[in-house]
Amino acid sequence: MKNWFPATMALAVAVRLVAADEDWVSKELDAAAQQIEQRQFALAHDVYRNLAFVHQAAPLNAMAIQQVHNGLAATAGRLKADEARTTSAEFVERAKRLGYVQVGPAWIPPQAKERLSASAAGKLERSVQAKVCPACQGRGVSDCANCQSGIVRCMACNGTGRAGGSPITSRGAPCLICDGRGKTTCLLCKGTGFIVCPKCDGVGTVE
Ligand SMILES: [Zn+2]
Ligand SMILES: [Zn+2]
Ligand SMILES: [Zn+2]
Repeated sequence: MKNWFPATMALAVAVRLVAADEDWVSKELDAAAQQIEQRQFALAHDVYRNLAFVHQAAPLNAMAIQQVHNGLAATAGRLKADEARTTSAEFVERAKRLGYVQVGPAWIPPQAKERLSASAAGKLERSVQAKVCPACQGRGVSDCANCQSGIVRCMACNGTGRAGGSPITSRGAPCLICDGRGKTTCLLCKGTGFIVCPKCDGVGTVE
């Protein structure tokens, strides 16, 4: 325990250095959540994908990237097949309006660009030439293999909807887990029916 002081200092400095960028990222996450509420799914998807690009070069914190992944999955089913592959003109307009600058395929605030390390910036610049991800064909998501469109058979009642787990006990009370429906929301994809492509981490391209 002798070294606790220097270790704490180092941690504090590290946290402070990323705090400014985390502020920008959390604002983008808030904006995307609002866009979903307003049913602007394509724009929200672009905002999430932009953050996924940033994450590949300069990793976001665990909570933020989880939100990005959830958002990509949640918006994927609302897009037309070709919408997922290209950044929309609407997103680019929004980025310019906010004063963001382009680094490779990503749009970020100028201050965040200044803080990017040379290797992170280089990685983003190079990813413009990246190929379409063969695993997801550029969609950034794949169908969840665990369910049908986000719905799974209830494990507690084996899909019968009745407590007791057998059709014979038809006089049993409705299953408490599924409320008698025999089906529940898939936990793996949180009911979206999609999972973020593990090969490209949601951006739709690979080096
Ligand atoms: Zn059930
Ligand atoms: Zn699922
Ligand atoms: Zn992919």
